[in-house]
Amino acid sequence: MAKGTVVIVTLILTSFQEYDVCIAGAGLSGAVIAERYASQLNQSVVIIEKRNHIGGNCYDYIDEETGIRVSQYGAHLFHTDNSRVWKYVQLFSDWTKYEHEVVGVVNGKHVPIPVNIETVNTLFDLNITSTEEMDNWLSEEQVKYDHEPKNSEEMALSRVGRRLYELIFHPYTIKQWNKEPSELGPEVTARIPVRNNHDSRYFGDPFQALPTSGYTAIFDNLLCHPNIDVRLDTDYFKVRDTLRCKHTYFTGPIDTYFAHLGYKKLEYRSLDFERKVVRDTGERGTFQPKFVVNHPSAGTDFTRIVEYKHLLNQTSDHTILFVERSKDGGEPYYPVPNEENKALYRRYQGLAAKEDNVTFVGRLANYKYFNMDQAIINALELFEKDNGVLSQEKDP
Ligand code: UDP
Repeated sequence: MAKGTVVIVTLILTSFQEYDVCIAGAGLSGAVIAERYASQLNQSVVIIEKRNHIGGNCYDYIDEETGIRVSQYGAHLFHTDNSRVWKYVQLFSDWTKYEHEVVGVVNGKHVPIPVNIETVNTLFDLNITSTEEMDNWLSEEQVKYDHEPKNSEEMALSRVGRRLYELIFHPYTIKQWNKEPSELGPEVTARIPVRNNHDSRYFGDPFQALPTSGYTAIFDNLLCHPNIDVRLDTDYFKVRDTLRCKHTYFTGPIDTYFAHLGYKKLEYRSLDFERKVVRDTGERGTFQPKFVVNHPSAGTDFTRIVEYKHLLNQTSDHTILFVERSKDGGEPYYPVPNEENKALYRRYQGLAAKEDNVTFVGRLANYKYFNMDQAIINALELFEKDNGVLSQEKDP
């Protein structure tokens, strides 16, 4: 009996797998950290991924029926003003210049979003031609506060005034968040600027492009290193006792990591994508005028329609649409930034700070809605901080 026990213990001991670094999650943060440890420090890395693919929410693939590349977890547009991030991503992909433009269907018309001179002229039948006129018009509309905007309603009202707020921001935000804009932190609507000119781009960043061979290929290139093991379809919490790691990076939801403590869970907003194929459009034929068309009005239950055929000169006999609706539950996409969740997150952050040799990194672990470039710079800087080194990315 005693002998058998010893054998079992021996088996358990020998089944540990040792790595310098263990990473939970093969999204952008995890993949960048893995790449740095493997390439720069020549350390051994394992990435544990619950899903059956790498790439996190950036994952894209070719839709079989139409031959069009689509993103499984919604539109991803790379844009940055950070030249270091821009240089880093050149190492893992070719990039095709693409400046994203969005229109919204408002009062039955397609108008540019963010609001610019065309938006205002179209919706209010005006003939504004100069920046100065637009500034004057905006100034009359904008709600003035004697404090910084405290929530997303104040943020939008201070930028575009009540009429545009009611047409473009209020109903959309309710559909997206199932909350009044006044219940959300100002950072939500602050993502959308207002333009006093004809600039119809969604983002103002100097670097805007799409990975020429898709986002998933970037992850293949980041993780294709002899020092990196990738384990898909694997729940980190089920295997972590079999791993021996000098350091761990956890990129999943921070409240899941501490679920055993029974604290209240953090709130996330999720998305649902209804796939629709429109047949026989012709090789270049499309359904809507832009890649993304927003539907801000309360008359529809969806927020936007995304048509991937607009990207990268793709051709197909058909086109494919994803009608986007927001929901509770399901995959966690958006942290919900209100005071209660921020306070709860701070409690989790306190616990995280006490975990030895574990770094919490990325959108879900930081409960922050990072853009892709923010996730990359954050991962690079954490790597440097944890190792007391400066990253030495090889030159493109
Ligand atoms: N928003 C809006 N109307 C729009 C577009 C955006 O009210 O037509 C608000 C909404 O609250 C949304 C936020 O601005 O959640 C940020 O929009 P963004 O397009 O950045 O959202 P994402 O693409 O990240 O879902």
